[in-house]
Amino acid sequence: MTDVGRPSKRAGKADPHRGVKVLHDPVRNKGTAFTEAEREALGLRGLLPPAVLTQDVQVDRVLQDLHRKNNDLERYMALSALQDRNEVLFYRVLVDHLEEMMPLVYTPTVGEACQEYGAIFRRPRGLFISAEDRGRIAELLGHWPHADVRIIVVTDGERILGLGDLGAYGMGIPVGKLSLYTGCAGIHPTHCLPITLDVGTNNEALLGDPLYIGLRHRRITGQAYEDLVQEFFDAVEQTFPRAVIQLEDFATRNAFGLLEHYRDRACTFDDDIQGTAAVAVAGIYSALRITKGSLRDGRFLFLGAGEAGIGIGHLLVAALENEGMSESEAKERCWFLDSKGLVVRSRTDLAPHKVPFALDHAPLTGLVNAIDALEPTALIGVSGVAGSFGQDVVERMAEHNERPIIFALSNPTSQSECTAEQAYRWSGGRAVFASGSPFDPVEFEGRRFVPGQGNNVYIFPGVGLGLIESQARHVTDEMFFAAARVLANEVTEDDLALGRVFPPLTRVREVSAAIAAEVARIAWRRGLARAEEPDDLEATILAAMFEPTYTRYVD
Ligand code: NAD
Repeated sequence: MTDVGRPSKRAGKADPHRGVKVLHDPVRNKGTAFTEAEREALGLRGLLPPAVLTQDVQVDRVLQDLHRKNNDLERYMALSALQDRNEVLFYRVLVDHLEEMMPLVYTPTVGEACQEYGAIFRRPRGLFISAEDRGRIAELLGHWPHADVRIIVVTDGERILGLGDLGAYGMGIPVGKLSLYTGCAGIHPTHCLPITLDVGTNNEALLGDPLYIGLRHRRITGQAYEDLVQEFFDAVEQTFPRAVIQLEDFATRNAFGLLEHYRDRACTFDDDIQGTAAVAVAGIYSALRITKGSLRDGRFLFLGAGEAGIGIGHLLVAALENEGMSESEAKERCWFLDSKGLVVRSRTDLAPHKVPFALDHAPLTGLVNAIDALEPTALIGVSGVAGSFGQDVVERMAEHNERPIIFALSNPTSQSECTAEQAYRWSGGRAVFASGSPFDPVEFEGRRFVPGQGNNVYIFPGVGLGLIESQARHVTDEMFFAAARVLANEVTEDDLALGRVFPPLTRVREVSAAIAAEVARIAWRRGLARAEEPDDLEATILAAMFEPTYTRYVD
């Protein structure tokens, strides 16, 4: 991958590898960091101010500029502009300052950016495929400037984070997520392709917004929608046969169906369902190291039975089966409470994805009632309902358990079922807590707790890298189970002593490399790999990871 973007020695004004064309190419541009020799050889003299700056100085300048901005949306815009100008510098800043940059490049700022996408629109990034492009999708994919696409993140914009239908404004999500694939797993930027399938929007405000950038009609549905998605998958297979397709932020009713339909037909996965599952199961494994409990003895109560909850449920069943339980025994450990009450067999209103988890029990409503009836060892919030873990809920969990496991996974922070501080205070410092959005460390009765953030970014970049390296044909649940195990093993005793069930974010590239190796190994073991197995897999993966340092074009 090292020679991506290396210019030829051709000369002449129209030469795309010389002069101003180089400065306008974000893959090759180094701005003021071009050396004297490069300026001479590439015809850049005079097109740049005379000072030659190091990448470190450029990074400092970017940080100073970001710190001067008034709000995070402006910082997001400044970082997007940098990505459009000089990708290597953008990724240097992201990788070296991950904890500060991640909330700007992805959640929560990306949510605001998507809502304002029309107003802050500068240059298009990614590929917009609309319902009007039916019959021409392969042609559109061919317009993408990079031929060796290895990973695509695609959304139809219908359920962007917790913000609902943002139509074509949802493009911020695939763009941001792919930046994390590169930043956190070193997948080369030219191998990444963000795509929005614009099938219209049912968001009335957007339909009336003069700045809206998408199709100005309501969503197409049914056969027309399915045909468009089918053509998209076929066109990717034809144009980028080695590409992984990650489904992102589809509405729940489509997400499960698309995953089911395409998982054995393409190399595809849904991060909202499967990535979330792996990060949550990893968190449960780590939490059990603190509580000294065993998975076999666990009882799990979920508040919310959507993409996240049901996805976690399926992987948890796999984890319990791995402990020797039968599938039905395992399912009896996983209880779901949705907006209508406990998910039980007698209910006639259950969406298809909930049916496998409907258990035998009398109908029951209310979270406290469910805790009293089921006495769960772990409570997992994936409802998107802010404050739904009130004091009574946390106290009840603490009455039934010496060390209650309480995960409030709903995003963003404003939607969290409870805060870290509430979980520790209401449980008398006994809760093992993790959240979806970051919370600051909490001091309680002289002890310091560092809540873990169950961020999918621990999982999907490594899974993607492993799939790419092995050129896997399909993505299996076994791979996500393995990813969860690897992540859990990366949590140290020091992390656990602070109550932290995930490693610090600063270690994410190491974690990704370890997950990638395990995922790739499974692809080879199961006969799913199309690439040749290297002698030293770990070394091959590390060598493949993109480092955001400048290429020397001229010695
Ligand atoms: P979804 O819309 O598919 O599911 C939400 C579920 O919550 C539905 O089953 C709904 O019936 C239920 N619900 C709504 N109101 C309820 C109430 N008052 N009581 C009980 N249940 C209620 O959404 P999703 O994709 O499953 O996401 C759910 C939440 O999980 C979101 O806030 C999302 O941000 C979060 N999430 C976190 C992570 C993470 O932490 N890594 C990953 C993915 C999603």
